[in-house]
Amino acid sequence: MKIKIKIVLIFLLFAIFFLTAGMIFLNFIQYISFPTSMIILSSLIIFVLVLIIYFYITKSSRHTDNSEAPTLPPSNDVEKLIDAKTEQIHNDEVTIEDQQTAILNVLQDVQKEKDISEVLAKELEKFKLAVEGAYDHIVITNSDGVILFANQGVENITGFTKEEVIGKKVGSKETWGGLMEPEFYRNLWDTVKVQKKVFTGNLKNHRKNGEKYDVLASISPILDNNGNVLFFVAIEHDVTKEKAVDKAKSEFVSLASHQLRTPVSSINWYTEMLLNSEVGAINDDQKRYLSEIYTSSKRMGDLINSLLNVSRIELGTFAVDIKLVNINILAKKVIADLAPKIMEDNISFKESFDDNISEINADEKLLRMILENILSNAIKYSNKGGQINFAIHTADIGSDFGGKKLAEKNITILISDEGIGIPIEQHEKIFTRLFRADNAAASRPEGTGLGLYIVKSIVDQSGGQIWFTSEENKGTTFYVTYPMSGMKKKEGTRALI
Ligand code: ADP
Repeated sequence: MKIKIKIVLIFLLFAIFFLTAGMIFLNFIQYISFPTSMIILSSLIIFVLVLIIYFYITKSSRHTDNSEAPTLPPSNDVEKLIDAKTEQIHNDEVTIEDQQTAILNVLQDVQKEKDISEVLAKELEKFKLAVEGAYDHIVITNSDGVILFANQGVENITGFTKEEVIGKKVGSKETWGGLMEPEFYRNLWDTVKVQKKVFTGNLKNHRKNGEKYDVLASISPILDNNGNVLFFVAIEHDVTKEKAVDKAKSEFVSLASHQLRTPVSSINWYTEMLLNSEVGAINDDQKRYLSEIYTSSKRMGDLINSLLNVSRIELGTFAVDIKLVNINILAKKVIADLAPKIMEDNISFKESFDDNISEINADEKLLRMILENILSNAIKYSNKGGQINFAIHTADIGSDFGGKKLAEKNITILISDEGIGIPIEQHEKIFTRLFRADNAAASRPEGTGLGLYIVKSIVDQSGGQIWFTSEENKGTTFYVTYPMSGMKKKEGTRALI
């Protein structure tokens, strides 16, 4: 279309040219005479008109019908294209913004991590300073007990320098250990390495100069995520001074009790003489008062004996002297001694013995104390008309006794009652010195809280075991076991009384 217009215009230009040239020629040959000026003017006008038309068409065709310009899509498509482009640009902007935010977040995280690391480093430094400056002796070992770290306390307490102990086995003879029985160390390693539990206990160590000292040790295993031991942390507190103070106290109690025993015994003897009218007749009122004096002074005598025993236990001076004892006969004597009280309280008493048990290795006095204490408690804490069972038997390895599986054949002692019982929350304190359960203290004012402490110490130190089950207002059962070989001998300077 546009090309056609151009051809027509060119044709017109040529036509004008030839028309003008024709007019000039005709004029020249004077065939027709036109005024020259008119010819030139008309030719120019026509030429200029043609040019104007040509430019107008060319210009307008540029807007409307230019076949050489790239083909544009229809206006609808253009809008869509523009929308799509706009959206893409918008999306690109959003993506860039997201990326910027992500980068910012990463930078913030990095900064946070850096801050945390700095705080941790500071904390760690504090811990290091605290461990280093602690008064206690602190060592970290690998899983084989080889010392990796030792604080200043190690040097202060043991006298060995860090360089002297690092790389050595903890608690060995080359350092500060090796003074305890092999069984003690076996039990310690079994607790921390096999059972992976914290071990706490008192032990004796030696300083570099050979001096012995007492420590309260706590050894904790540090485990990885799979429960394997990575390290051990051992903290030992030097308790030599405290032990010395304790010893001095026990010695004082021992001395005071000993001194008190003589006058109290005198009161008992003379009161007994008066009560028995050995020095003249007494009337009923006097008898009543003297009986009161006798009961109280007897109780005082028992208390003094218990205190003396406690001090001997704590000083570690009591001996376990072994000889062959018929436990059944001994138990029957104890029952006979307490029979009046059993009858007085109308208690139904059941006893059962294994006649195959003949004589066992035992310290008769100590075995009597064990039986007497547990049975007298059963009577004391029973209600009138209650029931007590007393049984001595043997139980085979692996059998159940008092809720425990026996590790070997044992002699078993069981004493049960249906009395006031022990509140569950106070079970764990029952064997501690001077402890009395609330219900016992409220209903039975006479009592010292020393009997079971003494019994437990005797049983523990003579190779036996003691435990109990109890429910408040239902009753209590005490269980004692000894290996068939009986009690274990213990060297000591004093006997319990
Ligand atoms: P106590 O002189 O007070 O009887 P023990 O040391 O013999 O001292 O006993 C400690 C505490 O254990 C008692 O005060 C009591 O609370 C509790 N106890 C011991 N045996 C029994 C029992 N058979 N029944 C209930 N409580 C008991």
